[in-house]
Amino acid sequence: MSYTPTIGLEVHAELNTKSKMFCACKNQPHESEVNAHICPVCMAHPGSLPVPNKKAIEMVLLFGRSVGATISDYTEFDRKNYFYPDIPKAYQISQYAYPFLTNGELKGVQLTRVHLEEDTARSQHDKGSNSLVDFNRAGVPLMELVTEPVIHDAQTAGDFARELQLLLRTLNISEANMEKGEMRVEANISVSKTDTFGTKVEVKNLNSFKSVEAAIGYEIDRQIEVLESGGELTQETRGWDENKARTFTQRSKETAKDYRYFPDPDIPKISTSSVIEFAPSSLDEKMPVLPSNKRELYENLGLTSSIIEVIITNSETDKYFTLVLADIGDDSEMAKTAANYLTSDIVALTADPDRTIDQLQVSHFIELIALVNDKKIGSRVAKDLLPELFGSSVGPQHIAQEKNLLQVSDASALQPIIDAVIAENSEVVKQYLDGKEASIQFLVGQGMKQTKGAANPALLKEIFEKTLK
Ligand code: ADP
Ligand code: ZN
Ligand code: MG
Repeated sequence: MSYTPTIGLEVHAELNTKSKMFCACKNQPHESEVNAHICPVCMAHPGSLPVPNKKAIEMVLLFGRSVGATISDYTEFDRKNYFYPDIPKAYQISQYAYPFLTNGELKGVQLTRVHLEEDTARSQHDKGSNSLVDFNRAGVPLMELVTEPVIHDAQTAGDFARELQLLLRTLNISEANMEKGEMRVEANISVSKTDTFGTKVEVKNLNSFKSVEAAIGYEIDRQIEVLESGGELTQETRGWDENKARTFTQRSKETAKDYRYFPDPDIPKISTSSVIEFAPSSLDEKMPVLPSNKRELYENLGLTSSIIEVIITNSETDKYFTLVLADIGDDSEMAKTAANYLTSDIVALTADPDRTIDQLQVSHFIELIALVNDKKIGSRVAKDLLPELFGSSVGPQHIAQEKNLLQVSDASALQPIIDAVIAENSEVVKQYLDGKEASIQFLVGQGMKQTKGAANPALLKEIFEKTLK
């Protein structure tokens, strides 16, 4: 009998409110000047009182609506006690028994709960003989999400984390950059041969989606190996060593008892149903189009799923595509051409730091894809025109006309060119007439060259064939 891995994730996301969770300090955890955003409240001076940030609560509840979670009516904040230099009060304000959200689901993974807490300060242990602490991050609002232990492989865990990042960004409640620590994933992993879960290990320091997947894969293999060699697993917290690509023991796991949680007496209990901004209808008014809705909309327009993912995970492309759709409506052919150019040529062009997508007028872009779809220009001409449209005040139709690039689909206009090509390439013409059919491609090529790519190649071929019959 083989082992079934079980994984549950705990994710922290820094919310992008203007101010911190319980004081008026600026929420700028990445500020380069140390201790620039601190005050008596987030420095835990005696007598200072925390005041919950309404906007942070609203963000958590908005998230809750987006994943179909249950929004608690009664909630409270608790003190999670522990002693460490990064926590000036010697406790963290968090939520224990009454989180803002329970249940809900994202990408097929059930959520247990989502609560709000404050981030810790940043300690630096690599500055000589003393450790230093920067309190800019202390008190930044953190949303913590806990999933049920329902994931069974590394890829699904990674995909869940990616979807969560996309959702946080779409809701505009967190920048959710894992490399910057704006979104932090901890993975709980166990393996078992029976219906009963095995001993779980919690893995921390996962700074990218790739680390999440690699660490889970490693830990599953390690646990099976320990058990197979007759060993026992201990419930512990392990770190991920990126360079050695392995997990290592950090400490034995704390339990809730260690933290002596109790309700924070300085913060009033909150009844979410009595706050107007927290009402479902107020939240829904602020709800953007969610990734799941976008996928459905774009699928109905006939876009492939790989193109859809490129669009919805690139906010600039997505914004631009939305503007295009506002104009072209549900014209599937136009939408498909637009999506193709946006996810290929335009991505390549805007990789140049001197070019940004907003230099390309939406109306010009739509005009261009209409020219392509109506076969008034070929794909080569479209490729040549695109860079010229950045920062241009004139549209592609005008430029194409001026440069004589509009596709010539008029047989009588092409005939003189064809006659000239035939006269100049008697050798190739002879080969063709002798039965080497492929030679006609050379003649079509010459015709395209003469017209600077403006001729319709299929039409050219047809007239060549007719003329040489
Ligand atoms: P703790 O009390 O140790 O914090 P919880 O029951 O609160 O544990 O769960 C914390 C996280 O661990 C959740 O994401 C949960 O899904 C996950 N989890 C719980 N038990 C297991 C297990 N046996 N294997 C893997 N993950 C687990
Ligand atoms: Zn402060
Ligand atoms: Mg727990």
